Amino acid sequence: MAQPAPASGGEAAWRRWIVGGVASTVANLVNGRSVETAYRLASRASSPATLHSIQAWKLRRTLHHVARHSAFYRRLFRQRGVDVASISHPAELGDLFTTPQDLVDHAEDFLCRPPQVLYETTGTSGRRKTLYYSYDEVETATTLMAVGLYHVGIRARDRVISTSDYHYWSGGPWFARAVTKLGSFGAFPGKIAPEEVYRRLADHRYDVLIGDVSWILRLTELAREQGAPPLRLIVGASEGLPRRSREFIEEVWGARMFMCYGSTEGAGGMECRFRSGYHLNEFGFLFEIIDPDADGTGELVFTTLDRTTMPLIRYRIGDVAKLIEDPCECGIVTRRLSPLRGRSDEIIMLGGEGVAPALFESILNEVPEASGNWQVAIRRDGHRDVCELRLELDGGDLAGAAQHVQDVLRAKFDTTWKDHQLGLFDLRFTEVPRGSLRQERKLRRVVDERERD
Ligand SMILES: [Zn+2]
Repeated sequence: MAQPAPASGGEAAWRRWIVGGVASTVANLVNGRSVETAYRLASRASSPATLHSIQAWKLRRTLHHVARHSAFYRRLFRQRGVDVASISHPAELGDLFTTPQDLVDHAEDFLCRPPQVLYETTGTSGRRKTLYYSYDEVETATTLMAVGLYHVGIRARDRVISTSDYHYWSGGPWFARAVTKLGSFGAFPGKIAPEEVYRRLADHRYDVLIGDVSWILRLTELAREQGAPPLRLIVGASEGLPRRSREFIEEVWGARMFMCYGSTEGAGGMECRFRSGYHLNEFGFLFEIIDPDADGTGELVFTTLDRTTMPLIRYRIGDVAKLIEDPCECGIVTRRLSPLRGRSDEIIMLGGEGVAPALFESILNEVPEASGNWQVAIRRDGHRDVCELRLELDGGDLAGAAQHVQDVLRAKFDTTWKDHQLGLFDLRFTEVPRGSLRQERKLRRVVDERERD
């Protein structure tokens, strides 16, 4: 356990009542329009002790809520003999977790009240997970994003372009809402061709750019070739950012770049100006690292503390990282999440989207030239990701196989095809000798060969 369970089980009723009052006041301020007030509160007017008290109070409230209203947790708690009244920290739930597959299989069973908004995100099986929210919950989440953007220096006077994607997920609409809360001028075209945005950059006088890392890299390559109008700030999302790619982006634009960590499941964080990890929203989520190694790195798990529509208890988001306990120079009390070290499942980030091995499996099943022996390697070429399909052919030739793969990708996987068409990753095909891929006992279908630093 990276964080000791706060001792709150035997807390006096009057103290619980006061902590509850403080927690609701914080929530109201954060939910209100005052991003500046929320920012001051999060960064200055709290201590780790206050934070732990608020977390313990909210956890108790959430556990009682799901035990009463969520069919999924009612069932799970009954099967495991969990008495929610006795739980003061999620770690006391032992090996009880919520998995992404639970969201794929039983999304509606999680609901505690009628939802108002729906998002989807990639599941490992290739089927999408559904997440439900209320309007209020979206407002809270986007106010906190606004607080993060305010902290790195975005203000009302800025002209912001966000190319975070619109599909069934939350990135595009949430960034748009967060920027409008800052009062900045904004354009939110979604993930369109980088060339389209490049043409307008100088005319529209944007000084802040928000987008997925692979998209920003593509725009930066254009700017390096054709000239870069000045930007002041860049915010990257959705993928890891190797150090040399950050240096490349900052050098071309003459701007500082900050990264954020986010998920459709709602948990997120943002780098501060010291850029030493993502400050997490520990007022709204309780984070744990399970099975940490000697260094403290392990699988990230979170429990939602404010949500009442579809609360999640000990949700295994799949990211591998560590929690940084040392106080940050910026003064914000919440802990930071280290840059991600990988995934605990097989999802890979490609062109800003999570891709499951099941996607390649269902494509290659329809390619007559491909034998059952194939492997997908994700590599980097310069600053661009390359998705290399290594195929042992079963008749036909490589060009035919490549054509069939692209046909199926275009017809069945619209978002991945779109990312490919936008130039966010290259697709390459390599024929390998028959029998060469089955050297290891178990053939790893997808291997990520990109450097992490
Ligand atoms: Zn900081």
